[in-house]
Amino acid sequence: MTNKAKKINPLDVAMKQVDIAAAKLKLDPGLVEKTKYTKRELIVHFPVKMDDGSVKIFTGYRVQHNVTRGPGKGGIRYHPDVDLDEVRALAMWMTWKAAVVNIPFGGAKGGVQCNPKNMSMQELEKMTRRFTWEIAMMIGPDQDIPAPDVYTNPQVMAWIMDTYSTMKGYAVHGVVTGKPLELGGSLGRYEATGKGVFITAQEAARHLGLPIEGARVVVQGCGNVGGIAAQYFDRAGAKVIAISDSKSGVCNENGLNISQVLNCKQRYSCLITPEARGGEEITNEELLELDCDILVPSALENQITEKNVSKIKTKIIAEGANGPTTPEADKVLYDRGIFMVPDILGNAGGVTVSYFEWVQNLQELLWNEEEISERLTRILKRAFNEVLNISQREKVDMRTAALMLGIGRVVEATKLRGIYP
Ligand code: NAD
Repeated sequence: MTNKAKKINPLDVAMKQVDIAAAKLKLDPGLVEKTKYTKRELIVHFPVKMDDGSVKIFTGYRVQHNVTRGPGKGGIRYHPDVDLDEVRALAMWMTWKAAVVNIPFGGAKGGVQCNPKNMSMQELEKMTRRFTWEIAMMIGPDQDIPAPDVYTNPQVMAWIMDTYSTMKGYAVHGVVTGKPLELGGSLGRYEATGKGVFITAQEAARHLGLPIEGARVVVQGCGNVGGIAAQYFDRAGAKVIAISDSKSGVCNENGLNISQVLNCKQRYSCLITPEARGGEEITNEELLELDCDILVPSALENQITEKNVSKIKTKIIAEGANGPTTPEADKVLYDRGIFMVPDILGNAGGVTVSYFEWVQNLQELLWNEEEISERLTRILKRAFNEVLNISQREKVDMRTAALMLGIGRVVEATKLRGIYP
């Protein structure tokens, strides 16, 4: 299941996507070339004293892909497979995503190559604080604002905020988003990405005339994105028939009891225990090939490739993860009439509410949950319709349409700013 096993480089995927969209946009080739390069890249190797007294060296990255439209924005990932090309690709997708929802951020991403599952809380805290210190020259509320990603969470954001604030000598809330509410986090941020996946999938279903109530939904990943999205589908009356974690999945053709499955995951770190039977165990590969109406890949990159695309049996793919589908698979899906809600639209709820959190931090304001939810829904529905219109007008798939919208906005901003000097 890892990217390394599949040997697909996410940066190659991201570059191919740019080429496909840029060809349709007929943009100045020099400006397109500029959008392919990252602006700044920092690689840090740093020591952490582990619980057994040994000193371990970790490698971390912070990459700003493009900051033409505003400060860099993007999560920090803790995973054994993190490498420079993955972080570059994720940073590039952040640039397009912020532009698709038209919020004034550029794209950035970071990560540390580590296995957080084998680390204690103290080790994670020490690693986070030292990593923050190492990348402090690059981040800041006006420069680059990290957020949670795979295997990082509000607690990790709190440590980043505290370390950065300690260096400055005062509390800097706006340096990260996805913080706990007690530290200037925003209402609705924790749910935002999963909720956004649901909102955009609902728009896709409406477009296809498919009722959400009773729709058969399959979710890969049960973390912040997959777990929350599954709960929104469940509450709307859809039947979530399968969900997975990194080890395996659980499937029930009659619909899973999602709160029971997620409680089980929280208590026992697995989706099936004798107490929470109610489904059959399946592999992540089998899960992706289940017959369903809406497939929600919400784990890692390169899950739908030319190897399994012909076996995908769904009407809609709503991408919660970044980069789960390769360009080769995209083409087959489009030819087969499978409707795609691409990552840079489908999971843009996270960056959108991160933007709300940052605005509240800078202005020392607090918005209520209704304001957040109403603004999020409005922005995502508008972006969905803009992308759909381009897709229909230009006769291109939804990913190409979303990239045309995002890249077009970035190139337009670049032209207005001009090439200095
Ligand atoms: P998370 O750490 O909360 O959850 C990750 C989930 O993926 C877990 O359920 C884990 O068990 C599962 N997983 C890990 N490795 C797997 C594998 N090899 N096969 C199948 N499942 C696996 O992370 P998250 O925040 O939910 O992020 C998931 C995806 O969504 C990532 O691609 C991330 O970049 C993207 N994303 C996250 C946010 C956000 O706000 N958190 C925003 C936009 C996009």
